[in-house]
Amino acid sequence: MSLWWLLVVLVVWILVVALVVAPLAGPAALSYQAPIPIGALFDTHKDVVTRTGFMYAISTHNGQARRSGQGMIFHTELDDLDTDDSFKFASTMCQQMAGGIFAFYGRTSMASHQIAQAFSREFNMPFIAMSHAGSASKPDHPYTVSILPHVADAIADLIRHYGWSRLDYIYDSYEGLYQVQYIHTLLNNLSYSVDITYSWLDDVNHVHDELRRLDKQNTRSEKNFIIDLSTQNAYRVVLSQIPEVGMNRMGYNYLLATMDMATLDLQRFRHGGVNITGFQLINYSDPYVQEFVRAWSTVEPTVWPGAGNNKIELAAALSVDALEAFRRALDNMVKRQHNVFLSTFRRGVVYNRNLTQGIPCYTRPAIPWMHGPVMMLAFKEITFDGLTGHVNFDGRGYRKNYKLDIVTVSLDKGPHKTGEWHSERGLLQEMTVRRQRPVNNTRPRSVQVISSILTKPFLMVKKGPGPSGKPLTGNNRYEGYCKDLTDELQGYLRMDYVLKPVNDGEFGKELPNGTWTGVVGDLRRGEADMAVAPLTITADRERVIDFAKPFMNIAISMMIKRPEKQKPGVFAFMEPFSIPLWSCIVIAYVTVSVVVYLVSKFSPYEWSNRSYRYDRVVKYDFNLGNSFWFSMEALMLQGSDHCPRSVAGRVIGGAWWFFVLIVITSYTANLAAFLTVERMLHPIETADDLATQTEITYGLVDGGSTRKFFETSQVPTYQRMWNYMKTAQPPVFVKTVEEGVQRVRDSKGKYAFLIESSMNNYYNNRKPCDTARVGGDLNLEGFGIAMPHGSDLKEIITYATLKMKEDGTLHRLETKWWYEKGECGSNTGHRESNKRSLSLSNVAGVFYILITGLVLAIVLGLVEIYLNKRYSAKAQEQIMARTRTQTTIAETPPAEQINGLLEPYKILRHPR
Ligand code: ASP
Repeated sequence: MSLWWLLVVLVVWILVVALVVAPLAGPAALSYQAPIPIGALFDTHKDVVTRTGFMYAISTHNGQARRSGQGMIFHTELDDLDTDDSFKFASTMCQQMAGGIFAFYGRTSMASHQIAQAFSREFNMPFIAMSHAGSASKPDHPYTVSILPHVADAIADLIRHYGWSRLDYIYDSYEGLYQVQYIHTLLNNLSYSVDITYSWLDDVNHVHDELRRLDKQNTRSEKNFIIDLSTQNAYRVVLSQIPEVGMNRMGYNYLLATMDMATLDLQRFRHGGVNITGFQLINYSDPYVQEFVRAWSTVEPTVWPGAGNNKIELAAALSVDALEAFRRALDNMVKRQHNVFLSTFRRGVVYNRNLTQGIPCYTRPAIPWMHGPVMMLAFKEITFDGLTGHVNFDGRGYRKNYKLDIVTVSLDKGPHKTGEWHSERGLLQEMTVRRQRPVNNTRPRSVQVISSILTKPFLMVKKGPGPSGKPLTGNNRYEGYCKDLTDELQGYLRMDYVLKPVNDGEFGKELPNGTWTGVVGDLRRGEADMAVAPLTITADRERVIDFAKPFMNIAISMMIKRPEKQKPGVFAFMEPFSIPLWSCIVIAYVTVSVVVYLVSKFSPYEWSNRSYRYDRVVKYDFNLGNSFWFSMEALMLQGSDHCPRSVAGRVIGGAWWFFVLIVITSYTANLAAFLTVERMLHPIETADDLATQTEITYGLVDGGSTRKFFETSQVPTYQRMWNYMKTAQPPVFVKTVEEGVQRVRDSKGKYAFLIESSMNNYYNNRKPCDTARVGGDLNLEGFGIAMPHGSDLKEIITYATLKMKEDGTLHRLETKWWYEKGECGSNTGHRESNKRSLSLSNVAGVFYILITGLVLAIVLGLVEIYLNKRYSAKAQEQIMARTRTQTTIAETPPAEQINGLLEPYKILRHPR
């Protein structure tokens, strides 16, 4: 009896435990009874590895859960289908939902994307997407979380970083098309203009013709391509065809839209000089990744296609992370409400709201999945470090806080990390490249990549074929000062080198995200070993790269369009003095003459006794006419007939002579220049002239040190100039020096260019010889050979530079490229020639004055003769009249008769 009682108690106990305790025990207990079903929809062709990854994740997870007796067990309803077949896709989704699933994981194509979205929205069914079909612009799909991070923003940032203005976008799916459109919009919104040619690949296995067509179409020396393909395999196939069409040479830049660079074999691209960049999401130095990959590499690939490798493809890694995200989301739900799934399972089958088995599509109205909304909230809360980095979703279900490594393959270097891009912070500062090489100037070095910039006369592309008629290749394609300088350096460094003109055509400026453009960027990213370019040494740059001692001293200067030459006019001899000065001289002359007259008239010492015929007369020399004549004689440096007798008169005379001495010598000193030089009247002579006017616009090269100089200058004039330049409309900045010079030439004198003196002098010496350097130097700077921080080349290059300065090599190169190749003769530059002989036209005005004087003299002479005749006749008449009326003829001195006319004579009657 007691045994029976014991048995009953035991059964009751077991029932209590089963009914009460088990649900309280949470998911561990639940999972054993009911594996959680998850639907999976994969593309038959594209998702072989995705499927492997997903199945492998489920199997390893379940194995662990079973071994530990803890955690959920998963079970998948998996279908392979053609994701482009929307009908098949819809019916498969329906089937899977009707069977009862918690969520979907899988790929959609453009065709099936809307269907997947419609189903998941209608039935509140979470969809974990491993593709972006149509979602490059991140639209809001309430029941979708995207496990695949977006790469479009990173691509846009890199395009800006490289400064590409033109590129060919090669893609093989509508997803790619959406992506490039999104990138275009993104760049447009950032006011970055780029010319994109879209190129759809019909068949990735045969892209030769398409590549050749794109190559031919682009006549520029720099060819930029973005390749955006739907599978990793497609990348492999297309990349393998690039060398076959010879597009793996220097000057070709490829940006791959893949985030899985590690699984591509890029080693063979090390030799042609091509530049290939892409992204890497999986971080193989992470211990968790390493541990996973160790297990993954031991898996049998015949059973698990795509596995058994020490690299895991991104699609497989995403599947692993997708399952982990799903597990964590469910875990969160259970933690919040331990019996959340209690009523979901009946005999291991999923029931929805106790109404339907599974979530069938046919119910009208639709009965939404009871756990959908909470599960979506739970997804957005999870955060963990998975194989694909940090997994965390934003409010709209897209990955956030993830990081992509930027991986580049360039000449002589296999794939190496050149930077990082972070979803929230954008492009991060490139890593400082520190290469430890022993300082040894006798050891031949391997090939050095030398970055430079195509700017005259430093580096130019040679025109035409070589001497043998064959097209030029390698470094022979270039010429210029920097090419020659590099050849000279070769002797010191004993190196082979490859000249690489910088992709973005910039000298180098720092972007807000801390990265550098141009030549400086090349050094920072480790894409070049040194830069031999007209690169100005600045404090900012010295912070991030090293400079050897300057090889050329320069200054910021102004270039304007050369004004038409002004021939000296016939009255050029008037020009040494300004009009006001001439006026002052005339006033001085009149004043002095009048004062001399007055002094003479009133000073008793000016009067002297003289005998005049029978009389003694008291006479003074300086009547008004004589006074003017006296001053004129002195002014013309002629000796004087009259001499002041009084002290006052002599003081005036002395002062006037001294005045005349100085005036005449100053005039003579200036005269030659004004008569002989064909002068140019420059509208602008100084920076102040520029700053204080608005008629002539002025600008400079963007992305260089000149811009930085104005941007940071504390000098009020330069600050004022900068304030104008940064807001000027249309923009006054130019991309290259050449563009700036052309703008000066085309703008009819209405644009001045702030340019470094070396280039200023060069262009002024080039046809059509219509530019001129004006004003003084704004600041003094130097060009230096640059290299990455810590480079061991610095010492030897400094030594070589000093040596080349001392032995005249640098001077010789400068003469060769600036003066021997000059096209404008010596009458150019900013100095004007003054070696010219005088022609008649230079001094014609003097002749005019002489002729005028002669004519005037003749006219006045005639007037005098006439007046004198009239006067003599009158005097004769008077004498005759008197003779007739007087009995005593008193002898009348003629002086008396003409009394009043013959001033300054005073007649003293002789006492008889
Ligand atoms: N040589 C300058 C530089 O290195 C170019 C310029 O800004 O004029 O940036």
